[in-house]
Amino acid sequence: MDRREAVLRELNLYPLWVRRERPAPMDGNTQSTGTDRDSSQPVIAQVHIAETARPAVPEDLAAKISTGADTLDSVPASALDKSDWPELKQRVHDCTACRLRSGCTQTVFGVGDENADWLFVGEGPGADEDVKGEPFVGQAGKLLDNMLLAIKLKRGSNVYIANIVKCRPPGNRTPQADEVSQCLPYLQRQIELIQPKLIVALGKVASNALLGRDATLASLRGKLHDYRGTPLVVTYHPAYLLRSPAEKAKAWRDLCLAVDTMQIHKVQVSHPT
Ligand code: URA
Repeated sequence: MDRREAVLRELNLYPLWVRRERPAPMDGNTQSTGTDRDSSQPVIAQVHIAETARPAVPEDLAAKISTGADTLDSVPASALDKSDWPELKQRVHDCTACRLRSGCTQTVFGVGDENADWLFVGEGPGADEDVKGEPFVGQAGKLLDNMLLAIKLKRGSNVYIANIVKCRPPGNRTPQADEVSQCLPYLQRQIELIQPKLIVALGKVASNALLGRDATLASLRGKLHDYRGTPLVVTYHPAYLLRSPAEKAKAWRDLCLAVDTMQIHKVQVSHPT
């Protein structure tokens, strides 16, 4: 068994099937690829942009920003407008804007190619990430690396990985709305600096934070969304896939949508078939 087959088996994707349905039509802009494609390749003839608004801090989250005594200085997004990488890293390192900083070992900024075409966004650091200072280094990270490998990507090479919140929530709880609001400007600035061609949002927290929504993951999957002009694909969080391996096949479809989107946007990709 070669490495690729091993990875696909790990993802419950072997033997590999390639034919899949097209995404359901949605409201919004529709673009045609305008090119004939090899029928052996997965095809998306039309790309449906589900969101065109430019969310800042999501309204529903902004309304819930805590003004409690445990919330310290907030991070005004405008303060980061001109931050370059070193300044942004320093600001995250020094951040005490919410209660999470007092409970974590260190901030976890993000990792990878700062000019990457691909950006993967998770929820927040867990115990392993908190110790190492790098996103997705635990079990979920291993699965993420395998998901990347399945579409011929590698951490650090044309891929950047970041989280919505930069500090580990205590006991790995879901970050609260005000914590997301406080931290989101850092990721927004990271995205401005990276200028990825595609964002893959891993899980409900990342998807809703980036899209300014409060939607179920099921309702967000299978469509192409828009984050401030950048295509965004929603898929399951690797930690959820570890608990629910039967859903890995759906995650595979999401990755295929991501790859097809990259092709449409004329980004050099290796097709996963
Ligand atoms: N889960 C996340 O969302 N991010 C990490 O970095 C690790 C686990």
